[in-house]
Amino acid sequence: MNKPFMPRLVYFEPNALEYPLGQELKEKFDKLGIETRFTTSHNQVRNLPGDTDAQKYRIAKTTLVVGIRKTLKFDTSKPSAEYAIPLATGCMGHCHYCYLQTTMGSKPYVRTYVNVEEILNAADQYIEERAPEITRFEAACTSDIVGIDHLTHSLKRTIEHIGQTELGRLRFVTKFHFVDHLLDAKHNGNTRFRFSVNADYVIKNFEPGTSPLDKRIEAAGKVARAGYPLGFIVAPIYLHEGWEEGYRHLFERLDEELPQDAREDITFEFIQHRFTKPAKRVIEKNYPKTKLELDEEKRRYKWGKYGIGKYIYQKDEEDEIKSHLYGYMEKYFPNAKLEYFT
Ligand code: SF4
Repeated sequence: MNKPFMPRLVYFEPNALEYPLGQELKEKFDKLGIETRFTTSHNQVRNLPGDTDAQKYRIAKTTLVVGIRKTLKFDTSKPSAEYAIPLATGCMGHCHYCYLQTTMGSKPYVRTYVNVEEILNAADQYIEERAPEITRFEAACTSDIVGIDHLTHSLKRTIEHIGQTELGRLRFVTKFHFVDHLLDAKHNGNTRFRFSVNADYVIKNFEPGTSPLDKRIEAAGKVARAGYPLGFIVAPIYLHEGWEEGYRHLFERLDEELPQDAREDITFEFIQHRFTKPAKRVIEKNYPKTKLELDEEKRRYKWGKYGIGKYIYQKDEEDEIKSHLYGYMEKYFPNAKLEYFT
C-alpha cells in the first residue's frame, strides 16, 4: 500500500455531526465526492454492498463508519499496557493472520470515534486512579490507528494530550508509513511509537494492503529523529524456508536505517505465530488461498481463556526462534530492551 487509506463509502451516525471532528469529516468526504450515508449505530451498519460474503468482506474493509464511542470504560491491555484507549476499531489491511478477523466477526468495516475529548477525559480519570503509578495506554488494540490517522488526527491529539500529563504514557504499533503529520506532535517523550516488522517472506505472502517493509523502516527513522521513543514488534514470527536468514536480514536493514542516538531507548517485542480453531475457520473463509500454515498436528497446544486454546510452535522450534532472534537483537541493538517473547 503506497497511498494512504481513502474509504470508498462512509457511514455517519447522525449524532456524530454534533462534534467538530464529525462535521469536518463530513465536509471532507463530500468535497472529495466520496459517497456518504447515515446509519443509526456504528455497531449495526446494515445493507453493506456486496453479493457474496467474500465481496461484502472486501467492501467492508474499504468502508469507514464515523460514530460516537458510547462506552468509555477501557479494556485492559496486557502485557504491553494497562488500558486500551479506544480511538478506532477495524483496519483496512488484509493480513491473513490478523486476530481482528475473529474479534470483529461480521463487522469488518473501519470505525472511528469523534468524541475524542470524552475519550481523553476518561483516560485522565484512569491516570488519576492509579497515581502515583504510571498508566500506559495502548492505542492499537483494535485497529491500526496510524493507518487511519491522516483522516482524523485523533491519534495526534491523543499524543499531545498524553504529552502534557506527568503519569500517562501512550503506545501503539503500526504497519503503515504515513507518519509525517505526527512528526511535529508535542509528544514530550510520553509516546512509544512502534512498528510491526517481519521477514520479507511473511510481508510478501501474508500482509497485503499494508506498507512495504522499506517504507516502514524509513518511517521508523523519521519517528526516531522526531524524538519519539521507538519500538519494534516482530510478529508473527513465522517459520518458513530460510527464516533464519530472513529475520537476520530484517535486523540488518533496521541497523542500516536507524540513527545512532535513537538506539539507547529501543524496545523489542517478539510474538511467535499462533492460531486458535475459530481463527483458523475465519482465515480459511476470508483468505481461502492463503499459504499460512494452520496445521494443529504440527503445533503445541497452549490452554487459553474461555477454553479457547492457541496452537503455537513446538518447544524445540520455539527455542530455535528465541536463540536466533535474541542473537540478532544483541548483535545489532545491544542496548535495546526485550519487553517479552510470547
Ligand atoms: Fe490486522 Fe494490523 Fe494487518 Fe490491520 S495491519 S489487518 S490490524 S495485522
